[in-house]
Amino acid sequence: MKTAAPINLYDLTRPELSAQFVRWGFSPVHAARLWNYLYLALADSFSAEAMPDLPEKVRARLRAEASLGHLPTALETDSSDGFTRKYLLTLADGERIETVLMRFTGRVTACISSQVGCAMGCVFCATGQMGYTRHLTPGEIVAQAVHVARALRVGRTVPGEPRLGEDASPYPCARLRNIVLMGMGEPLHNYDAVMHAIDILRDEAGLAIAAERITLSTVGVVPGILRLAQEMRPLHLAVSLHAATQAERAALVPAAKKWPLDELMAACRTYSEATGRRIFDEWTLIEGKNDSPAHARAVGELLRSLPAQVNLIPLNPTTGYDGAPTHNEAAKRFQKILADEFKLPSTVRQRRGIDIAAGCGQLAVAAEAGSQ
Ligand code: SAH
Ligand code: SF4
Repeated sequence: MKTAAPINLYDLTRPELSAQFVRWGFSPVHAARLWNYLYLALADSFSAEAMPDLPEKVRARLRAEASLGHLPTALETDSSDGFTRKYLLTLADGERIETVLMRFTGRVTACISSQVGCAMGCVFCATGQMGYTRHLTPGEIVAQAVHVARALRVGRTVPGEPRLGEDASPYPCARLRNIVLMGMGEPLHNYDAVMHAIDILRDEAGLAIAAERITLSTVGVVPGILRLAQEMRPLHLAVSLHAATQAERAALVPAAKKWPLDELMAACRTYSEATGRRIFDEWTLIEGKNDSPAHARAVGELLRSLPAQVNLIPLNPTTGYDGAPTHNEAAKRFQKILADEFKLPSTVRQRRGIDIAAGCGQLAVAAEAGSQ
């Protein structure tokens, strides 16, 4: 007889875990204890040491029919300034994804992936250049946050760890408070699994990540944005714009052919009207492509009537694209035009971590090249 695949416990919300315990004939009290072990103690085994308040018969059942969905680290790299740590994590089927722990501007943030590869094919993106392999399950998305939360605990004991912001607190553990879905993959192409994972991450009896500290970045999947608006999901939405005309955008972001700029802008308006939230617009600055004063004015005009903020990201060079990052002065000039002429707030993302190939998908590419 074929045995069923083990249940990945990180796939389950708290009510689902409780229901599973009832199906097994165990008390929901044990389910609540297990939940605490999973998300407060960050347990990494079903041993009596790791889960002392669970009876052996419960732990035996877990060992037989469930898994902790732990993602072993294939590669781990620190940026030279020590503020960014990038993990290449191995999934149960051997596929690999990237998760990044960032500590700057006084906070700790996990940047997590939603797919293995990506189907959207943005020309400058290392993940896009890989193509699409598969969606991540909710448990694989949650496990990345658990991995970072665990690393933060352990990290406190490593000599020479940078101690900034929350990390400088006198408390024994820095807690993970911020999540950005900006790793590999397009989160709105994997809508159901991502939303299920977010429900688990937000659970106040667990990792308790506040909704306003979760940012979802999308290439502009219009039906997904409209569904977010309809479901009134209280997240931060970041839209990867990169160009302010349909023709220029379609050349960088092939998905724009399916979801044209005017439809995307209309969806953004619907989202901000439904939720009352401002939209973040990402703009990867590529020298000579989308970084001129005329480009700045075009994006200013495009966003004129929307509550928006622009995040300018100097390009991280990738092997599959020959563009170069915009120089600092041009980025500052771009920013000044947005501020002076359009009162449009913007930030220039620091290029920290560039020495560990911090661009989306770049560590996976480097590891692949290194193993050949
Ligand atoms: N698929 C989603 C989220 C992952 S990419 C999206 O596209 O929004 C997160 C951000 O990194 C996006 O704004 C993306 O355009 C940007 N990005 C990807 N590759 C990059 C690179 N090589 N240099 C700079 N930014 C990049
Ligand atoms: Fe996919 Fe985002 Fe990369 Fe585009 S930028 S290929 S949507 S991961």
